[in-house]
Amino acid sequence: MNEKVTPYLRDLALNNPAIQLQFHRSPEEDALKRFQLEDPLEEDKNEVVKGLVHKYSNRALIKVSLRCAAHCRFCTRYRQIGSAEGDLEETDIDNMATYLSSNPQIDDVILSGGDPLYAPKTTINILKKIRDISSIKVFRVGTRLPVHNPSSFESPLLKRTVNLIDEIGEKKPFFMLINFQHPNELTEETLKVVRSLRRRNITLLSQTVFLKGVNNSVDNLMELFQGLYHNGVIPYYIFRCDYVKGVERFVCDIKEEQEIMTLLRSRLSGIACPTYVVDVPGHGKIPVPLSYWDNVDLSHCRDFKGQEIPLDYS
Ligand SMILES: *Cc1c(COP(=O)(O)O)cnc(C)c1O
Ligand code: SF4
Repeated sequence: MNEKVTPYLRDLALNNPAIQLQFHRSPEEDALKRFQLEDPLEEDKNEVVKGLVHKYSNRALIKVSLRCAAHCRFCTRYRQIGSAEGDLEETDIDNMATYLSSNPQIDDVILSGGDPLYAPKTTINILKKIRDISSIKVFRVGTRLPVHNPSSFESPLLKRTVNLIDEIGEKKPFFMLINFQHPNELTEETLKVVRSLRRRNITLLSQTVFLKGVNNSVDNLMELFQGLYHNGVIPYYIFRCDYVKGVERFVCDIKEEQEIMTLLRSRLSGIACPTYVVDVPGHGKIPVPLSYWDNVDLSHCRDFKGQEIPLDYS
């Protein structure tokens, strides 16, 4: 994954290590090589037609493209981001629409990537083709563009995209999941985008990843989740950093994460406290128990089918 930042982020990163660490390439990325897996979440295996991942029975995830306005060094899709291999043709989009229509158990469609709002033309094409499939009840779009490049929301193409989302959101719930990692990302420019989105038929949620050296402290995350909540964004998930080749330097100690989340749960409004999950390779997103009960054992967990999975965090 190449280094890529926007001029906006370059300015924000000045004297701001929490931002620098997220975007600046480190030699450690090649040196550590502790994790072997490039695709631990087995997305490639679950890709049923090009660009469409169907892993959980009622939900489908569309990779709109593999491009983003900036490249986050901790990205789960480290192996792919920035490449043209994920660009979709008209026929790929038709195939997705056909798959979604013929699998009516899918009621929840997630546009992801890459950043769907960084590929607005493709996003518009996809949404126009699937908006009227009656079995789809809920739409979501994941993005980090409000953090990477807030001023791009003033471009005509992005305005058209947001207008379309708003129009669909009038009929079916539309959730926007914005990726936030640190309170320093809540700038006036980004909050202006958040306020403009709040006036639309869109419910705003956030997603965060525990990142060593960036946000693994009670104070940072308290400020982040409170700041999001105060601005009308509901913190949805905080993930344990995936065991992906290249992102080793960001993975925190799981006990530390558990302690942080336990303290946050005591201090934050319930709505402001996200669910802490680990995406277990081959099994999906499993919530991690907080320390309110005695004898919690983090050496193994069970997935949603009841299967026991040993976890190695050494
Ligand atoms: C995360 C994810 C989803 C959505 O999961 P939720 O827990 O419903 O937010 C759906 N499909 C894939 C492949 C995912 O990785
Ligand atoms: S915006 Fe999302 S998909 Fe793009 S590099 Fe960052 S984490 Fe990865």
